Amino acid sequence: MKKITLLLIAMAMIAGNAQHNSNLPETSKGPNIPYDKGYLVEEINNDLYWVTDGLYNAIFLVYDQGVVMVDAPPTIGENLLAAIKDVTNKPVTHLVYTHSHTDHIGAAALFPKDIEIIAQEETKKILEARNDDRRPVPTLTFEKNYELKIGGQHLQLDYHGKNHMDGNIFVYAPKQKVLMLVDIIFPGWVPFKNLGIAEDVPAYMKAHDIALDYDFETFVAGHVTRLGNREDVEVSKAFVTDLKNTCQQAFGKVDFMESAQETGFEDKWMMYNTYFEKVVDVATKEMHGKWMGKLGGLDTYLRDDVWKMCESLSVDF
Ligand SMILES: [Zn+2]
Repeated sequence: MKKITLLLIAMAMIAGNAQHNSNLPETSKGPNIPYDKGYLVEEINNDLYWVTDGLYNAIFLVYDQGVVMVDAPPTIGENLLAAIKDVTNKPVTHLVYTHSHTDHIGAAALFPKDIEIIAQEETKKILEARNDDRRPVPTLTFEKNYELKIGGQHLQLDYHGKNHMDGNIFVYAPKQKVLMLVDIIFPGWVPFKNLGIAEDVPAYMKAHDIALDYDFETFVAGHVTRLGNREDVEVSKAFVTDLKNTCQQAFGKVDFMESAQETGFEDKWMMYNTYFEKVVDVATKEMHGKWMGKLGGLDTYLRDDVWKMCESLSVDF
C-alpha cells in the first residue's frame, strides 16, 4: 500500500476518535466513530446508508438483489466491505465513481472484478491515462445523465460540467431525498485547501446553485465529519460569495505602487507576489473575523482558500 494511503488512514483514525477533544465549533463535529471498528455505518433512509471514518464518507444503496456502492475511499478501505456486511449479505453489483481522485475511489479494486463500474466519460478518460490498478476503468459511462433504476431503487447521476474537476458528478436519490456531491461543500468546515483543490473556481461556485435546485434533505459531501443538509449548502454558498467579494475589495485596499516601492521594480515576481500576499493577508483577516465560530478549520485552510479566490479573480472572473 502506498505511504500516502497509510498516512490518510492514520489521519482518518485520529479524525474519527479525537474530534471531541478539540475546540472546534459544534457545527463541525460529527458522530463518534466506534473506536474498535474505525468506521460508522448508518441508514439515512429507505435502504440508503452512509459509511464514514470521520474524515471521508461514502454511501451504498441496498436493492432486492444486491448493493450499489458510491465511491470507495481508501482510508475506509476494507471497512467498506465490513460496513456492507453489517447491513446485508447481498453482493455488491455496482460501483459509482463520483470522480477520479484516488482519495475517493482508491479502494475500488477491493470489490469483485465483475461488477459494473459507472462514471462520467471524462472520468473514464482520466482513469485510462492514470493506468492505476487501485482504480479500475469504468465499464459503463455517460455524457450528461444516467438513471440507475434497479430493484425498486433509483439513483440519478448527473453531469453539469467541470467544477472541482472534469467528470465530477451529482448523485441524487429521489426516494431518499439525498444528494451527494464531493469536494465542493464541506458541512461545518471551511473548504479544504485551495477551495477543495478546485480546478474551476467560477464553476465551483455555480455548483452550489445547481445543488440547491435538487429536491434534497440530506447532503453527502465525501468529507468531513457528518452528513449535511440544505442549510450547509446555503452556508457554503454564503461563504464563497463573501470570499469572492472580500477578495475583490482587498485588491482595492492595498496600494500597488506603495508595495512596489518596498520591493523595487526589478524583480518582477517578487514585486507582484509581495503585493498579492498583502491582498491575501487583508482578505484573510476580514474573513476570519466574520466566519470565526461558524466553520471549523479556519486557522488551517482559510488563507489557502483566500489565496485561491484571489488567484481566480486575477485570471477567471
Ligand atoms: Zn477530489
